[in-house]
Amino acid sequence: MPEVDPPLAIVAELTHRCPLQCPYCSNPLELEPGRDELDTDTWRRVLDQAAGMGVLQVQFSGGEPLVRRDLEDLVGHAARAGLYTTLITSGVTLSDTRVDALVEAGIDHVLISFQDANADAGDYVAGYDGAHRIKCEAAARVRDRGLPLTINAVMHRQNLARMPEVIAQAVELGAGRLEIAHVQYYGWAMANRDALLPTREQLDEATAIVEAARERLRGQLVVDYVMPDYHAMLPRACMGGWARRFLSVTPSGKALPCQAAETIPSLSFPSVRTTSLDAIWRGSEAFNRYRGTGWMMEPCRSCDRREIDWGGCRCQAFALTGNPRVADPVCHLAPDHGALEPALRAARAVPPPLVYRRLGGTIVVPEDAAPLSVTPS
Ligand code: SF4
Ligand code: SF4
Repeated sequence: MPEVDPPLAIVAELTHRCPLQCPYCSNPLELEPGRDELDTDTWRRVLDQAAGMGVLQVQFSGGEPLVRRDLEDLVGHAARAGLYTTLITSGVTLSDTRVDALVEAGIDHVLISFQDANADAGDYVAGYDGAHRIKCEAAARVRDRGLPLTINAVMHRQNLARMPEVIAQAVELGAGRLEIAHVQYYGWAMANRDALLPTREQLDEATAIVEAARERLRGQLVVDYVMPDYHAMLPRACMGGWARRFLSVTPSGKALPCQAAETIPSLSFPSVRTTSLDAIWRGSEAFNRYRGTGWMMEPCRSCDRREIDWGGCRCQAFALTGNPRVADPVCHLAPDHGALEPALRAARAVPPPLVYRRLGGTIVVPEDAAPLSVTPS
């Protein structure tokens, strides 16, 4: 098997179940049902294997990981194995009892995702009445216990005008870090792209606000900001490069180089039920298919940036062109750069209703799904 460095972190997607229905959820359109989830012992074995390989961090994610009653058990197991533990949660079920149990288990860091700074708009996008208020209460519980708190704010066409309020909210909640994450268009987000992709003008205005806030809040709040791909001229090094830094495990045990990798139908992914994490990472065909630079076509193959951005995102290349080997169409050098045009045109039109995420695969468009009055025009 090839010599490769171990992943920096594993993303343990404990479940696809979630009380919210965000229309940009990174989970696949075909959600995995609760009956297929890995049991506690199998997750413990996976965590031991990760620590044994030299992995440094585990991110407990989902869906909503708090849906699993064994979350504290798994956090405790990971902490005893020496892994740095992060809980990635919507916060809507993060009660006092659960926070105390997580602290007892040894959780290191909590990230709570917010849909907006405006409560009505946040609840509308989450598909859950009262979600915004409950999240604020959950953030306060985390800070009361002295735990490091990151706020993850997912930004898109329908909330980008409220960037100043989103930044102010993170300060008010006592977060040490704010991750401003523009929607990436795979899975549920791809189904809602025309309703969520901002215009260039909206984006430029929001970016200037973020840059000013970074200066103003230096030493108080770290602001992470990644530009949305469709408006960039060069792609991101997606996941730090295919199978270079992260390994995701789905609720049923499929191991993926990134959470969107299942959107590429020509790949089949090994299971942690039957194969060790180390064998998957170093030896599996799916992980090796786009690792490094050997798989690249022109213009990536001879480009100076090929070991900087690794040709961009394979899932995005597939989503926009049907071929996961080509240069990410975001790149201005990519022969398929024009594939972004229809989406950029749609960003200027009236947004269509949101398509909500729903376990069981049913796509639901609520009758009252017209954009909110707070939607920027
Ligand atoms: S993005 Fe929304 S629906 Fe998806 S897991 Fe997170 S909170 Fe749940
Ligand atoms: S040609 Fe390929 S390697 Fe070069 S910048 Fe574009 S995507 Fe990156």
